[in-house]
Amino acid sequence: MPAAPDPALFDKVVNLCKRRGFVFPSAEIYGGFRSTYDYGPVGVLLLRNVKDAWWRSMVQLRHDVVGIDAAILSPPAIWEASGHLTNFTDPLVDCRVCRERFRFDKLEDPEVCPNCGAEHSFTEARRFNLMFKTYAGPVEGAGAEVYLRPETAQGMFVNFKNVLETSRKRPPFGIAQIGKSFRNEITPGNFVFRTREFEQMEMEYFVPPAEADRWYEYWCQTRLQWYVDLGIPADSLRLRAHDADELSHYSTGTSDVEFLFPWGWDELEGIANRTDYDLRQHEEHSGERLEYFDQAAGERYLPYVIEPAAGATRTAMAFLMAAYDEEEVAREGQGQGEPRTVLRFHPRIAPYKVAVLPLSKKPELQEPAIDVLSRLQPHFMCDYDETQAIGRRYRRQDELGTPYCVTIDFDTLTDKAVTVRDRDSMAQDRVPIEGLLEHLQARLDL
Ligand code: ATP
Repeated sequence: MPAAPDPALFDKVVNLCKRRGFVFPSAEIYGGFRSTYDYGPVGVLLLRNVKDAWWRSMVQLRHDVVGIDAAILSPPAIWEASGHLTNFTDPLVDCRVCRERFRFDKLEDPEVCPNCGAEHSFTEARRFNLMFKTYAGPVEGAGAEVYLRPETAQGMFVNFKNVLETSRKRPPFGIAQIGKSFRNEITPGNFVFRTREFEQMEMEYFVPPAEADRWYEYWCQTRLQWYVDLGIPADSLRLRAHDADELSHYSTGTSDVEFLFPWGWDELEGIANRTDYDLRQHEEHSGERLEYFDQAAGERYLPYVIEPAAGATRTAMAFLMAAYDEEEVAREGQGQGEPRTVLRFHPRIAPYKVAVLPLSKKPELQEPAIDVLSRLQPHFMCDYDETQAIGRRYRRQDELGTPYCVTIDFDTLTDKAVTVRDRDSMAQDRVPIEGLLEHLQARLDL
């Protein structure tokens, strides 16, 4: 049976995020700041794991991709050349009845206002530029304008020559970057799915023009597989090719990796053939030659670019949605059934890999528990929790998605062993402290 969207999942995940410290509404003590979020103690780990998993697969495990970290503040010249000053717009309409504003192309019914229900109440659509503008230095005004980057991609294009000259790479090769981007979205929403400040994970892969189609296919498949390998069920993912009228001004082909969110299929990542558009534009506007000279073939050319562009924050949300599960289980130690909420994260994505739990707060258990913790901490992100009944602590770790709990009890004092509890099966094994690290390493397979 094909997977179906589950609208009830949205509130469950948002509530869990607040309750367990994944994501908080920003500036909450001041009443919140619309559609802006802060990542809490567990959310920051989740987000970091998503970014690390991307970097590992896109940079660390490859010989043909290098990373950079470019500035967020950027001069208008970059955005003039890239086409963003003219083209990076969304169609904005106002409802004449309730005065709410909407992004016209995202309306479910273009005739009906989703806020007040009025029909045919929209103004003509006008183009609204999504870039945030600010001023550098103490004098505001012409000449001091700068933009917060709306994508990380241009950082790779403007550094193409620097990287080519210093990294000893030649096409086909890529430049990758993870970082914040800013878009003054008309209608942010759906929790962290669409926000005005978000993080992107983008890679520009420079190829000989004749190889562009092949590499486009390669990156579409490689990027789709990345999500599957990290535990998102294959039937909640799909690759959707854009129709000709959807394509960006620079692209000859784009496919989106889509995830089945609670509201239906929506984009996680776009893979685009950007041709030589960006390098050509920057060449024209900067006056610098950005061609690559292929010595073997004796020819100069502007490489084509295949770009997989993903959102880190949006992807973190997809991992949360995909991992969320509820089940009825026998209460541990007793026969009765009770509901259990568990995040079945892939170990690489899970915020904590291991939780260390002394059965009681008594000093004679605290000491060996801290000893176990300090043996594991250099290897994994660990949580330590000594309050409440052990069953409730297990439930908390289930809701954080921690793959293994290590419990220190009074027997530990004599047998020098601990209980290792598996998140998914809830099976418990007695493991000697001496072999604990290897036991966990073998199972976590990080
Ligand atoms: P949309 O059509 O949804 O506005 P887009 O196609 O313009 O998005 P891209 O420019 O391709 O998005 O950006 C690449 C990725 O960056 C997206 O697939 C998404 O994961 C992420 N992203 C883009 N805009 C936002 C946002 N406002 N909030 C969170 N993530 C975003």
